[in-house]
Amino acid sequence: MADLSKYTKELSNLFSTSANILLISHINPDGDAIGSQLALYHFLTAKGRNVSMMTPNYIQEFLKWMTGAELIEIYIRDRKKCRVLIEKADLIVLLDFNHSNRLGESEEFVKASGAKKVLIDHHLDPEYFTDLAISEATKCSTAELVHELVCGINGTEKFLSKPYSEALYVGIITDTGNFEHGSYSSGTFRIVADLLEHGLEKEKILDRVYNNFSSDRLRLQGFALNQRMVVMPEFKTAYILLTKADLKEYNHVKGDTEGFVNMPLSIKGVHFSAMFIEKDGFIKISFRSKGQFPSNEFASLYFSGGGHLNASGGEYSDTLDNTISYFLKVLRENVWRFGDGE
Ligand code: 5GP
Ligand code: MN
Repeated sequence: MADLSKYTKELSNLFSTSANILLISHINPDGDAIGSQLALYHFLTAKGRNVSMMTPNYIQEFLKWMTGAELIEIYIRDRKKCRVLIEKADLIVLLDFNHSNRLGESEEFVKASGAKKVLIDHHLDPEYFTDLAISEATKCSTAELVHELVCGINGTEKFLSKPYSEALYVGIITDTGNFEHGSYSSGTFRIVADLLEHGLEKEKILDRVYNNFSSDRLRLQGFALNQRMVVMPEFKTAYILLTKADLKEYNHVKGDTEGFVNMPLSIKGVHFSAMFIEKDGFIKISFRSKGQFPSNEFASLYFSGGGHLNASGGEYSDTLDNTISYFLKVLRENVWRFGDGE
C-alpha cells in the first residue's frame, strides 16, 4: 500500500479549516468520477463540513440512483449557480482527473478561483496545476484512493456509512470492469471485504450499474460487433468504428457506447483494441490493450490523448476514413511493440 500518511495531515487540516468545500469531477464523468466525488461528499458532510458538488457536463443514467447524485450541479446546465459555487469555495477538490482541460467549460473559472486546490487522482502523468496533488497511479480507482485517505484521516474508526460504501463500490467496480482489468490489488479486496462485512448490498448495486441498458443500446452493441468490427490478426489488433448515422439509427444517447472497446480484447490473440466514434468535426477514439502494449503512449503520440497503460483515449480532427487510414499507418510503424507473445 502506498504511504499516504504524508498527505493526510495536510488534507485533514484543509478539510477542517475550509468553510466552503467544492468537489468537482471530470467532464463525461464515469462511475469512478461520480463514485469518488459522492464518497468524499458523504464523509465530509458526516463530519459536519459544508460541501457542494459540481461536474462539467452531465451525469449518466446508470449513476443517478446514487444517494446525493441529485445534489451534483451541472456546469453547462446552470453556469451562473456553478460560478457562484466556484467563487464562494475556499477549497476545491478535483477528483479522478489530472489535466485541467477535463474541467470543460468551467476550466477558466476554476483556475482563476482563489480557493486552495487539491487533486485526488490515479491517472499517470499529472499536470501539476493544484496546490496539493495526491496522484497515485497504483490505485485501481480514485474511489479506492479517497477511501484510503479517509481511513488515514479517520484513524482507527472505520467510516463506512451506507451511501459512502455504495459510492465507493461503484467507483471500484466501474474502473475495474467488475474486477476484470485495471490495477486492483489485494488491498482492493480488503476494502471490498470490509464493505461486505458492513452490509453492502452488492447485488442491488451490480443490477443498477450493469442491468440498466436500453434495448437500443443493446442492439447498437450487436450492430457494432457484427457490422463495424475489423479484426487484424497480423497486428493483434481489432477496431470498431461507428458513424454519426449509425448512432442516430439506434437512438444513441451519451454513454451508450461505453464498454464496446473492451469487447474485441476477448478475441484470442487480440491484444490491442480501438474504437472510433464520429463526432462533429473530429473523431473520438478509445484504446484498450492487454499486457505491456502502452496504449496511453500510442494515444498521446498519435492522437493528442493519454490515459492508463491499458485504457486510454484521444481524438483526431479529420474524417472517419482518413482517421482509420492514419491509424493503420501508425499501427504498422508500431507493430514491433507487440512482441512475439501469444
Ligand atoms: P474511455 O475510453 O473510457 O473514454 O477513456 C479511458 C481513459 O482514457 C480515461 O480514463 C482517460 O484516462 C483516458 N482518455 C480518454 N480520452 C482521453 C483524451 O482525449 N485525452 C486524454 N489525455 N486522456 C483520455
Ligand atoms: Mn478513475
